[in-house]
Amino acid sequence: MTVRITPSILNADFADMGREVGRIESADGVHIDVMDNHFVPNLTMGVPMVEALRKVTDLPFDAHLMIEDPDVWAPGYVDAGAQTVTFHLEAAKAPIRLAREIRSRGGRAAVALKPATPVEQIADFLDEFDQVLLMTVEPGFGGQKFIDSSLKKIAGARAILDRAGSSAHLQVDGGVTSANAAACVAAGADALVAALAVRLCHEAGIPADRLMPGTGLTALPDTVDLSAHATALGCAAVMVLPSFFYGAVGDAGQ
Ligand code: ZN
Repeated sequence: MTVRITPSILNADFADMGREVGRIESADGVHIDVMDNHFVPNLTMGVPMVEALRKVTDLPFDAHLMIEDPDVWAPGYVDAGAQTVTFHLEAAKAPIRLAREIRSRGGRAAVALKPATPVEQIADFLDEFDQVLLMTVEPGFGGQKFIDSSLKKIAGARAILDRAGSSAHLQVDGGVTSANAAACVAAGADALVAALAVRLCHEAGIPADRLMPGTGLTALPDTVDLSAHATALGCAAVMVLPSFFYGAVGDAGQ
């Protein structure tokens, strides 16, 4: 089993984003957290950033839109160069129409659910999505503690996807560390957002592009093929995220 790991640039140096993304050239992709200060109480970046970064890297972009009115704005992210566009079910007025619009423009359509939104709400139209993102913290800020009850939700989502014969990826986003990554994968997740990389690199105390299975990865089960991600867990990913994030991981007591 291969688990995709996508570093987020949420906490990168916004004054030097091109160079920051250049540091993670070997990653599976770049997770771009878009926040509008309406759907979530924080403001980050938007289409202009995606367009600008598209010019400096060939990495696939995974735009996670934590915004109101995704029906209006999400298609523009495909046009700007994002391969995957994730919108929140809670914010979409017509999620199926929107997913089809994203696909019609050549993007992968993904739907995100906040922690309190039941997966069952999308069970009957999974064919419309290429990826399902489960938030394992309340969206809005990095460095939060993983909501443990999410594991049950991940397992439930995996069961629903399997029952439907869906090949959509099941992505987990929020508070993922080596202390819970194994459980996330065991519960059925096959895509993780980057906090894991930060944690692994930090624990190992070595540049992550030299990380190999068995070196600081003992919390992960054998079924996770991290060899493919040895370079994806680039020290670049560590550099991209600020030191305060390390503190947040430590504060979680993990
Ligand atoms: Zn995200």
